[in-house]
Amino acid sequence: MTLATLWVVAEPANESISTTSLELLTHARTLASDVRAVTWGAGGASLAGVAGEYGASTLYDVGGLDGALPGVPVAAAIAALVAQGAPDAILIPSSYDGRDIAGRLSAKLDRPVLTNVTGLVDDGGIVTEHPVFGGTQTVKARFSADGPGIIVVRAKSFVAEPSGGSPATVVTAPAGDTGAAGSARIATSHVEERSGPKLEEAAVVVSGGRGLGESEKYALVTEIAKLLNGAAGASRAIVDAGWVPYSHQVGQTGKTVKPTVYIACGISGATQHMVGMKGSKNIVAVNKDPDAPIFQIADLGIVGDVNKVLPALIEALKARG
Ligand SMILES: Cc1cc2nc3c(=O)[nH]c(=O)nc-3n(C[C@H](O)[C@H](O)[C@H](O)COP(=O)(O)OP(=O)(O)OC[C@H]3O[C@@H](n4cnc5c(N)ncnc54)[C@H](O)[C@@H]3O)c2cc1C
Repeated sequence: MTLATLWVVAEPANESISTTSLELLTHARTLASDVRAVTWGAGGASLAGVAGEYGASTLYDVGGLDGALPGVPVAAAIAALVAQGAPDAILIPSSYDGRDIAGRLSAKLDRPVLTNVTGLVDDGGIVTEHPVFGGTQTVKARFSADGPGIIVVRAKSFVAEPSGGSPATVVTAPAGDTGAAGSARIATSHVEERSGPKLEEAAVVVSGGRGLGESEKYALVTEIAKLLNGAAGASRAIVDAGWVPYSHQVGQTGKTVKPTVYIACGISGATQHMVGMKGSKNIVAVNKDPDAPIFQIADLGIVGDVNKVLPALIEALKARG
């Protein structure tokens, strides 16, 4: 190991740490001898157990944010910590808040950010891997100047596994005075309604594409997802068409999923879609065109009309009980 210290931005989620942050902690401990986490929120200190379990020795707690978005205060707190002693790199999940923190931290530290990272290796220093050209090629990058690298990593790039470590030592790390930028407050927020598992975490994902023909037919996809206790995904074509919200999109500019079973219904298999789901364990594709590219990566291909195959599948699943 050539890296001494890595810090991981540990986003709080559901009274724990977000899955992507746990993936980063897990991988960080294979790269550096000392892994530290930075978190925030009213219950920040209570995350010491889970942070330690996934490999963090220290948990920097920025504290409650008094109704502010994390970007400003968390970037300020990390910058203050860096001034006391910098890590080799700071790993940040590629979430909305993570990207906000990374941009602000970059400005504060005057350091560049490497984004859209899906791999991190130790090659005499940290080397990042980024998919390009719709995921068909991988480029590698490294920081050439001294100072902590800021690295934004995509969800599902690594597998989260606890190490059984003892709770991390909690160190209070307040943001200090953030001036006018820190005075913005969240006025209202709402949680998007969802039944069943999250798209990124579901064991079964059923996705629909333009081949469904019309937006109403997406109900077939959601019904199969529900019957299989899975989540419903989508190609960009039907997100752009306004059939489903962006939060359903799988692919290069959407979410990366790695379920046990991925069922693609009326999806052609563009590289930008496949880069987000090709890591699935078993891929089933329903498409009326036998030459559709999705069949090249499908474990089970059904050449047929979604209007016939999907209702038949629903019937069979219901009959199974
Ligand atoms: C920079 C960039 C980023 C992108 N990011 C993403 C991304 O994140 N995710 C993404 O999905 N795409 C993304 N795209 C778009 C991508 O290139 C494709 O346009 C998109 O994935 C196509 O969606 P689709 O498969 O639903 O539609 P189409 O390509 O139109 O395919 C529809 C398929 O349905 C089949 N079909 C038609 N009728 C039936 C029927 N009755 N029964 C069965 N099959 C039928 C057809 O044979 C066809 O294969 C991106 C593109 C660019 C340029």
